Amino acid sequence: MKDPAQNYTAFPDGEALDRDNLRVLRFLRHGPLGLGELAEKTSLARNTVATRVDHLIRRGLIKQGPSIPAERGRPSVRFKLNERAALLYLVFFDETHVTGAICDLGGTELGSLSRCLDEAYETDDAIRHIVEIRDTICAENGIDRADLQVCVLGVQGPVAEDQKTVPWSRVGLLPTGMAAVIGMPVIVENDANLMAVGVAASQDGAEPIMCILVSNGIGAGIVTNGAVHRGTGGWAGEIGHVPILAAGERPCVCGSRGCSSAVAGNLALYDMLRAKGHSVATISDVAQLAVAGNLDAILALRNVGRNIGEAILGLVIAIAPGRIIVAGHAAEIGDHLLAGVRETIVYRMPAALAARIQVEISAEYENTMRRGALSLGFDSLFPPKL
Ligand SMILES: [Zn+2]
Repeated sequence: MKDPAQNYTAFPDGEALDRDNLRVLRFLRHGPLGLGELAEKTSLARNTVATRVDHLIRRGLIKQGPSIPAERGRPSVRFKLNERAALLYLVFFDETHVTGAICDLGGTELGSLSRCLDEAYETDDAIRHIVEIRDTICAENGIDRADLQVCVLGVQGPVAEDQKTVPWSRVGLLPTGMAAVIGMPVIVENDANLMAVGVAASQDGAEPIMCILVSNGIGAGIVTNGAVHRGTGGWAGEIGHVPILAAGERPCVCGSRGCSSAVAGNLALYDMLRAKGHSVATISDVAQLAVAGNLDAILALRNVGRNIGEAILGLVIAIAPGRIIVAGHAAEIGDHLLAGVRETIVYRMPAALAARIQVEISAEYENTMRRGALSLGFDSLFPPKL
């Protein structure tokens, strides 16, 4: 049953929003504003703003917010985004799980569900999970499926301009008609890219950002001038396929040899520890050892960090990021992995550059990724530039 108090308002209503409407709407995303403030921020005339505000209220996209008491006369009215004007369906695939969440435009979660993935699942299974999770969340939370306006799908591996993933992304090669299958427009994005978008959305200024996501493999999301740098075929930032000396001649899934992911992801960590006689199968096993002060585990984490550092050196000098943000469960075990990355940057990069780069950890990176997905979904409904 739909809860009438929630008052979901479907969008789009079939009518396009012009550029001035979008400008007003997008400024209201960051908090309530009055007509005068909106006129100043949008550089539109006050009466133009007033017309746009009326239009957006009529469409159910914004609403009256809290008033500011005035010293004299009537209190000044402020307007704010109607966060329930559209709902977004966010889905994230990692190596072992798929997680779906339905959020409003402000990021408030209305329901979520996580499922384990089979060892050998294929594209059809991925699509089935996406559809079933959506239907379950809707049924359990009284959400009308018709109110979902866009699906943002986070996956591992390169995502090309045409939003198909490559065969070794565990989601597989997605069909072109995904929107028809899922019943709404679909945006597919690489998980590390989503993280970088999430970080960019909450930082002031346009300093380049590099987000490194460490899981069984490693990948980087790069944002320059406020936009994801995707590169041809979505290959920019696939640092797990940078050859480094430590990886020797080991063959890689990409068809090349000596790729860094052989010595710079969670699987590499397990290999290093098994070679020392430890029985590890999951990242929690590694965490347990390291937290207990086991030197093999601490050194393995540091080594993996150094190898990641080696893999990103070229990229660091190419984009000179102000911030390198390292995320993933392995990165959250003390600061051993981070120390390895930092050490390599400090020793192998020109001192003047290394001194300017902040290497930091992203705690709760899933939230950052979600913020990135939300930002992409919002931009697709209300584009920043027309
Ligand atoms: Zn490779």
